[in-house]
Amino acid sequence: MRLARFEYNSVFSLGIVDPAAGTVAGVAAPSSAGDPMIAVIAAQLEGREFDLDGKQYRLADIRLAPPIAQPSKNILCVGKNYIEHAAEFVRSGFDASAKGVAGIVPEAPIIFSKAPCTMIGAHDDIRPPWAITNKVDYEGELGVVIGAGGRAISRDDAYRHVWGYTVINDMTARDLQAAHKQWLLGKSIDTFCPIGPWIVSTDEVDPGDLSIRCWVNGELRQDANTRDLIFDIPAIIEAISASMSLSTGDIIASGTPAGVGIGFDPPKFLHKGDRVRVAIDGIGELENAIV
Ligand code: MG
Repeated sequence: MRLARFEYNSVFSLGIVDPAAGTVAGVAAPSSAGDPMIAVIAAQLEGREFDLDGKQYRLADIRLAPPIAQPSKNILCVGKNYIEHAAEFVRSGFDASAKGVAGIVPEAPIIFSKAPCTMIGAHDDIRPPWAITNKVDYEGELGVVIGAGGRAISRDDAYRHVWGYTVINDMTARDLQAAHKQWLLGKSIDTFCPIGPWIVSTDEVDPGDLSIRCWVNGELRQDANTRDLIFDIPAIIEAISASMSLSTGDIIASGTPAGVGIGFDPPKFLHKGDRVRVAIDGIGELENAIV
């Protein structure tokens, strides 16, 4: 199942997407307050089916929105989670946490976060604040959406806490990431988290074998597979939930592979007018303009 949140005629709705047919079947709005996607996921976890509202939309007519607008906490992100990317990041000199190439592979997952105000839809514009950054970069990533919440989740139980998967572009201002040491400001610029185009339920995806690719203006920059994650999804969930409770609708960005802009010599940063496309087989793709 592909579950989207979208805007049509200035009204936000949820819907089940059939990409082959190019159609969206409206899902009845939940009666509870709060984030509607989290509400319908929670209802399904309690054994209730989605109620359709009888409306049909053409995929081409709607604006895809971030599937979840109000997660319980910041988007949780994993840094340096593919070996080749860890190496390119350390080499680039932008990694304020690096202690030289000997320490390329992290001993434990590096967890940071992005504020929810960064999220935009699959085709919305990315708006860098050019007055404070000229080193804007992309990071295509597999996103994980938590279903049943929990604390101290073991890696053996981890997949039981996943509701689905999505595509994330963990946009980053490298100059701010380096200047502020902590990555939060460089990662949390408004519009710096294209996400979607929808959430695909776990029954349709093998998260351990997904092709992930990223293009800038049609040039292939990242081309990897999630089987090469240093810390896999269960390891990430185990590590995060050892510290904090995970809640329904929480979002985890699992890390980016090699081929980001700072991986090139000289670096290939993004500029006004560029278009970034991130695709994960079996899930979908994002394509966002830099303005
Ligand atoms: Mg990232």
